[in-house]
Amino acid sequence: MTTGAADTDHGAADAADQPATPGERHRERREIHGEDLLLSVRDLHVYFPIKSGIFIDREIGSVKAVDGVDLDVPRGSTVGLVGESGCGKTTFGRAVLRLVEPTGGTVHFDGVDVAGLAGEDLRRVRRRMQMIFQDPMASLDPRQSVESVLTEPRRAHGIERGRAKSVGELLDLVGLPASSASRYPHEFSGGQRQRIGIARAIALDPDLIIADEPVSALDVSIQAQVVNLLEELQDRLGLTYVVIAHDLAVVRHIADVVAVMYLGGIVEQASSDALYKAPYHPYTKALMSAVPIPDPIIEDTRQRILLTGDLPSPANPPTGCRFHTRCPYRQPTRCDDERPLLRVMSPEHTVACHWAEQIHAGDIQPRASAVVEAAVRDEPPRQGVPIPSDPDVTTLGPPAGV
Ligand code: SF4
Repeated sequence: MTTGAADTDHGAADAADQPATPGERHRERREIHGEDLLLSVRDLHVYFPIKSGIFIDREIGSVKAVDGVDLDVPRGSTVGLVGESGCGKTTFGRAVLRLVEPTGGTVHFDGVDVAGLAGEDLRRVRRRMQMIFQDPMASLDPRQSVESVLTEPRRAHGIERGRAKSVGELLDLVGLPASSASRYPHEFSGGQRQRIGIARAIALDPDLIIADEPVSALDVSIQAQVVNLLEELQDRLGLTYVVIAHDLAVVRHIADVVAVMYLGGIVEQASSDALYKAPYHPYTKALMSAVPIPDPIIEDTRQRILLTGDLPSPANPPTGCRFHTRCPYRQPTRCDDERPLLRVMSPEHTVACHWAEQIHAGDIQPRASAVVEAAVRDEPPRQGVPIPSDPDVTTLGPPAGV
């Protein structure tokens, strides 16, 4: 089993040996599963109230963490959700699992409206939807042995021994030796702890796993191994993933479809291949231009689009296009007062920008002060750096590989 040698440096090499691009893998899976939707989210809102008052709590506003998100996840596929910290992607994942209550919208899981469930019905659906957390140490009880960690989900759901995978099977699936069962979380490395977290997530034979930054707390040399493990488990167990991450390279490697989130909403969604080859939205372009390219010649000429300022507060989001306060392509009309809806640019590629076609064609250029050569990005921005008319993969800087 390729995952048996847990946490060695060989995993990085394994990543390079992947036989197919995410797009090819997506097409293969689609042939197997068709367009059968396992998860369908419509107009999901999660608002957190802001309260004030000494004697009586008055609601004086709300933090719009998720503000009208639609997302379809076909069975057997992987959808990546990317964006900056604070954009609402983790809240979205937790709302799908009803770990936080949605304020509005619907979540259909395998045809069942999750929002309308309670009690035993909700518990039954939750068994089929599991989560992998970012920090494996924080998500494991240090006083519980691995065996206890892996049998707890079965006990909590009242499943008899023998009707779920054994501890030995789970450890084997995630590439840990059977002797790990009697050990405690602090005796493992970070990568091994994440394997335990993954084993716990698959203990109840789920259909959907929401992985929230599953590798961002791990060393780079270990990240590829855990990503490969997730892919291997997907093929063996027929899992469906929503992978939440801020690392575009990780998402590119694992996801069939990528949705880019900004301030509570999705601004661009496309197949992984299409998005990385030709991003339309200025925010996606800026994110991708920040990713180093592992080719010194291309890297020397890579240009970076800088975003100014911080992510605005979701308690008081900007009017119009929510990205207009930081957008290097902002126009005098529409951007400030008209919120763009997701529009279809090409099959399976949607973008929320009023000027997407003109930006894509090169008719609208970014502000010169927002563009710097990546090699000198720590120096003050230079004026007048030319921008190619076509947002070509090699000049805007999406990664050539993981
Ligand atoms: Fe930028 Fe305007 Fe497009 Fe928003 S609508 S991303 S502000 S160009």
